[in-house]
Amino acid sequence: MTRRTQLLQAFDALLQPERFRDYGPNGLQVEGTDTVRKIVSGVTASRALIEAAIAAQADTIFVHHGLFWRAQDGRITGWLKARLALLLAADINLFAYHLPLDAHAELGNNAQLGLKLGLRALTRFGEQELGFLGEPMASASFVSAEALAQHIEYVLNRPVALVGPAHSAIKKVAWCSGGGQNYFEAAIAAGADAFITGEISEPQAHLARECGVAYLACGHHASERYGAPAVAAQVAAQFGLAHEFIDIDNPA
Ligand SMILES: [Zn+2]
Repeated sequence: MTRRTQLLQAFDALLQPERFRDYGPNGLQVEGTDTVRKIVSGVTASRALIEAAIAAQADTIFVHHGLFWRAQDGRITGWLKARLALLLAADINLFAYHLPLDAHAELGNNAQLGLKLGLRALTRFGEQELGFLGEPMASASFVSAEALAQHIEYVLNRPVALVGPAHSAIKKVAWCSGGGQNYFEAAIAAGADAFITGEISEPQAHLARECGVAYLACGHHASERYGAPAVAAQVAAQFGLAHEFIDIDNPA
């Protein structure tokens, strides 16, 4: 058992949210009970995750995608009211860390995705250094982007969209979890042979073909499943709290 305030200090110390310009507030987004015993981690503070956390008797939720974003107009209606009502009724703390969770060098989404895929990060690139650039750990290269795509499909257990040159060898791999479309040009400039992210938008398909760099979209959710449980598990262990990761599947 620990206090909510200590938990917030621990998450902040680890993730250093003050270093980032972000799209929403990082840290404690919804205040619940003072004393904490069990954390449920997840990717998104969806209604399904909140309900699952309540069923799991958690008093704290730790996510990557919280409830509040810059584009919202501040009204607590509809789906937002429903999610908030559940949290408040159950007195659950909601912690959310967006870019700081992508960025953390060992426990973040990118670091953990790299680990999962067997990629060693050598350097960082792009805005706020959220892009990771490295190489395969096991061998010098993948024989082709096609082989890399098959590897990712196997590890993440979902289809991957591959655009661009499929058959040339891949030595330098860049990756940026989630909606990293806008990091593609920086990845090309950094010298990547292939770029892995969650989503693809129309312009990147042309860029991939025209610049000769393979683009692999492996799912926003699938690419961001690993940071939240890694951070929550470490902080839970620090305080002797229970922790459980709940994956609410999302095809996007
Ligand atoms: Zn995301």
